Amino acid sequence: MAEKRDSPYIWVTWLAKIMSGDITCQWQGWFLTQNKLTKKQPNNFDLADWKINHTKMLTELKEKLIKDKYMPILEKPIKYNIPNSDAVICGKPDCVIENKDTVIVYDCKTGKERDSDQVQIKLYMYLLSKGEFSEKKIKGVVLYKDKEIEIKDLPENFEENFNFFVDRLISAEPSTKNPGDDCRFCDIIKDDCPERV
Ligand code: SF4
Repeated sequence: MAEKRDSPYIWVTWLAKIMSGDITCQWQGWFLTQNKLTKKQPNNFDLADWKINHTKMLTELKEKLIKDKYMPILEKPIKYNIPNSDAVICGKPDCVIENKDTVIVYDCKTGKERDSDQVQIKLYMYLLSKGEFSEKKIKGVVLYKDKEIEIKDLPENFEENFNFFVDRLISAEPSTKNPGDDCRFCDIIKDDCPERV
């Protein structure tokens, strides 16, 4: 069985999937925020192959940026304390570069394009703007094998939406459960979620 966390902990990718609607079972994100899994549901995902493809993309990006005279910071850890709570949100964007006035955050995607990809990069932009880069203009880039999507600004109501979903995840009140297609890709075992299908 999962272990209750001392305080709520959100990982950026969970939040991105919920905010984008890529996952409709919001209970999944709520449970992971409140609990640490001691056992994960096995799946057919080839993690080793994903790592190879991802490392290749990141290596190519790093070398290109160095060639362009930047100093890329790879897998920069982000930790943000949610105001007026004991909760934290953490993430690790693939690459960040900084120049005099601007910061660009990159995330490399090896699979097909999903709505949560852009939400994820927006979350990194938002969190970086709350920390050491608060004085700088922050842009985001989602990189795919054959294209890239640049995000120049956060939508005006992004903070409002961020707070809405974060409040739900850190609440003691469980979010709505929605057993179905999401279960196939969910790490939560049946002992922790008896409704799993
Ligand atoms: S197993 Fe299914 S119902 Fe349970 S949390 Fe995961 S997605 Fe939701």
